[in-house]
Amino acid sequence: MRAAKILITPRENRHTPGSRRDEASPVNVLLISTYDLGHQPFGLASLTAWLRAEGADVVCNDTAVDALNENAVRDSGLICIHLAMHTATRLALDILPRLRALNPGAHICFFGLYGPPNADALAGFAPCSIIGGEFESEITNLYRRLSGAEAALPEKGKVVISTERLSFRTPERDGLPPLDQYAHLTLGNNDRTVGYSEASRGCKHLCRHCPVVPIYGGRFRTVPVDVVLADIGAQVANGAEHISFGDPDFFNGPGHAERIISALHNEFPKISYDVTIKVEHLLSQRGRLARLVETGCLFVTTAVESADDRTLDILDKGHSRDDFIAAAKLARDTGLVLSPTFVPFTPWTSLTGYLGLLRLISELGLVNQVSPVQLAIRLLVPEGSALLDHPEMKPHLQEFAPERLSYGWHNPDRRVDQLQSAVQALVETGEAQGQPRTGIFAGIWRLAHDALGIAAVPLPAETCAQDIPRMSEPWYCCAEPTEAQRAGL
Ligand code: SF4
Repeated sequence: MRAAKILITPRENRHTPGSRRDEASPVNVLLISTYDLGHQPFGLASLTAWLRAEGADVVCNDTAVDALNENAVRDSGLICIHLAMHTATRLALDILPRLRALNPGAHICFFGLYGPPNADALAGFAPCSIIGGEFESEITNLYRRLSGAEAALPEKGKVVISTERLSFRTPERDGLPPLDQYAHLTLGNNDRTVGYSEASRGCKHLCRHCPVVPIYGGRFRTVPVDVVLADIGAQVANGAEHISFGDPDFFNGPGHAERIISALHNEFPKISYDVTIKVEHLLSQRGRLARLVETGCLFVTTAVESADDRTLDILDKGHSRDDFIAAAKLARDTGLVLSPTFVPFTPWTSLTGYLGLLRLISELGLVNQVSPVQLAIRLLVPEGSALLDHPEMKPHLQEFAPERLSYGWHNPDRRVDQLQSAVQALVETGEAQGQPRTGIFAGIWRLAHDALGIAAVPLPAETCAQDIPRMSEPWYCCAEPTEAQRAGL
């Protein structure tokens, strides 16, 4: 990571115009989320609860759903922007010039996983603070300082990464758009309204390509069962029929996870849910998988990333190709639907390796369980990535591209990069036309054969059930913002 900078906040910019530092003068607060994977933004709801407890007047603005609230921008002394993921950060950079034009004096605080690694790019929008990790307490302190409730000024020139153990508050969601404006779950002919919660944060693992690692460094924090259940209860009261748990890995604390799902099922037996669990944990916690099914787990997202052991070793994923195969069979035997995710295009991908991945997905009967976009994803190398110093990565690295907030790289075989572009275009077209996953997969299968200059052998018939539960918005966090997303800002 390059040297991070936080700009010094000029004293005259700490308050709304006309306010004085020598007496408490609460500032209005605007919380902005640009994109949160199609969920109602948890980070805004949690921060709302903390700031309201301080007496703050809080406005939430989810620009993935609503237009930018220009009046709130003008009226706010503190504007907090949640950078939960790469796409959200790119979209935030798009709206920052407008924020600055509307309110040059507001203190802008960037918070979330993608804040600290992108400190250089964000620092041009002074005055700002950048907070990663457990952000609620730090931002509450910032609010107190800006409003004069604390004499100390915001700390200068420093990016804050906090892994403090917080006393979590139940998120307050009444300032956010209703749940039916977000992604829904599709199961056969039924759609379910989806809520979102987090039972833990951070991760105890150190996968090299993961954005959680530079912030949490192998730590994770659990959210008390009563706080999670209260958050879910509020969403059920507002129409949620399914809960998506956003924990980086639901089985980092398996005992805690089991208490959460037991409490959820006892209190809301008709509510289904989904979680993310790594391959390693699916195998080591195999005795708990049946409990997931019993308590209403509709599917488990699992970050397989690759079927190539060398690539898995470079990424330090903690599992092998054989482990993936074992986990897929175990899940099938348990009646658990897996939704594997991949990073199939890396500097180490070969054409034969990519075709081998497709073949394995087909042989395991997982074609319908893999969102097509997962077969087009290219490794993202942002600032702070643990891959930057890896000897296997260095020969492929190019300059940092500020407009993309990531480092460029090329595969040594240009045909692999060309295949990635072709697969991405095919997936975008197929999804726009509403083609079934099997049809898009068959197209990718042909492209992979064409790239190798060999005739495509027929695919085996897909054997898994057709009614696979899936989100209307596919799970991935490293894509280019779409024109529609940009147009909405
Ligand atoms: S297990 Fe998942 S969340 Fe944890 S470090 Fe690895 S990729 Fe990141």
